[in-house]
Amino acid sequence: MNDLLPDQVKNWQAVEKLVRENFSRAGLNEIRTPLLEATDLFSRGIGESTDVVGKEMYTFTDRGDRSCTLRPEGTASVVRALIQHGLLTQGSQRIWYSGPMFRYERPQAGRQRQFHQIGAEFFGLASERDDAEIISIAWDLLKDLGLQGLNLEINTLGTFDDRKRYRDLLISWLEKRFDLLDNDSQNRIHKNPLRILDTKDPNTRKLLEEAPCLNESLSDETKIRFLSLQKILEGLKIPFSLNNQLVRGLDYYCHTAFEIKTEKLGAQATVCGGGRYDGLVQQLGGPSVASVGWAIGMERLMMLLDDRHLPQFDFDVYCVNRGVDAEVEALSLTRELRAANLSVELDSSGASFAKQFKRANRSNARWAVVIGDEEFNSREVRIKRLISNSKDEHNHEIIIKRSEIQKLIDTLRS
Ligand code: ATP
Ligand code: MG
Repeated sequence: MNDLLPDQVKNWQAVEKLVRENFSRAGLNEIRTPLLEATDLFSRGIGESTDVVGKEMYTFTDRGDRSCTLRPEGTASVVRALIQHGLLTQGSQRIWYSGPMFRYERPQAGRQRQFHQIGAEFFGLASERDDAEIISIAWDLLKDLGLQGLNLEINTLGTFDDRKRYRDLLISWLEKRFDLLDNDSQNRIHKNPLRILDTKDPNTRKLLEEAPCLNESLSDETKIRFLSLQKILEGLKIPFSLNNQLVRGLDYYCHTAFEIKTEKLGAQATVCGGGRYDGLVQQLGGPSVASVGWAIGMERLMMLLDDRHLPQFDFDVYCVNRGVDAEVEALSLTRELRAANLSVELDSSGASFAKQFKRANRSNARWAVVIGDEEFNSREVRIKRLISNSKDEHNHEIIIKRSEIQKLIDTLRS
């Protein structure tokens, strides 16, 4: 689990701001749910046979003897909250969330035990156009952040009946090759055979190249829906490739599954994963409501981002000050300027003017406000455009009377 230090948080905030703006434009509403849920929510909502529930959850018993789990993902909590508060009977919902998730995994680059996700979910929106819309929101967001070299991979998992047919085929194929499979996959043969297609074991992966394909078990209806999705994405000029190994192994996943990957993150290549999960709401005790969503991993996103793409928060003013009375006066002026909605960094070093000016130049502030003994005695303030941010070539100083506070504020706003 990592600390995020102030310099990193600045970059995170820049990304979070852009994310919020993107979601607002797309008409998504934010939801905030507790980090802690009843363990049962995840065993029902994600499934006992998945890695996440089987071996990655932070689960403990609280003082009331209840089994609690730090959320390993966001969707189950969102669905629980919408059911609990009756929002799913009020028409379609477009929701987003963000925050920390917890999984007991082997830490490595792009894989932490506390990590952060941003997620979007549509409820009550069942068509392939809705799939395309929510995919386009992820795609545009990543593009807006300036990411390059992204690949969208899509697949269809078909209907429940399609998958049942395929499941039987796959099980009998896998049973014949039982001894060649890795341990995890052997355990999953009957519990969750589709999930085996998602294995990270290289030998099993190789073997699976010959396995029967889900495509061959799909009904015409499913194929038409999938082709229609591809047409829509083509029309939107969102490039994609087909990946028939891409699965979300749970029973309630259906039709569209997708991932956005990058070549730049090595083994942890998936930045965004999502799909349609029409059965989940019912599985968690709610009405039958079609749903589709995705989640982006923030840490992986931040690894991909070049600092240059991130607009930094600029300060308006750096306050240079020195001298017993001047320093008190500087604090008082700083407070007045902050109250006028200007951002002000007050130098508290008591160092020489030269040193303070050096810091001012490095600070990203547009203006330096200077108060020394001289200014204090003449009841004046000296201000100076900082070189690094100045557009005009003249960096002359301006002197403003301390009593003319409004004039000072107006100048500093320019
Ligand atoms: P992976 O195959 O990489 O383990 P996953 O299928 O477990 O991913 P999801 O549950 O679909 O991942 O989560 C969506 C996104 O969240 C992932 O694409 C990834 O960007 C991010 N993510 C998942 N687990 C972690 C983790 N432990 N550390 C950092 N990011 C993560
Ligand atoms: Mg995982």
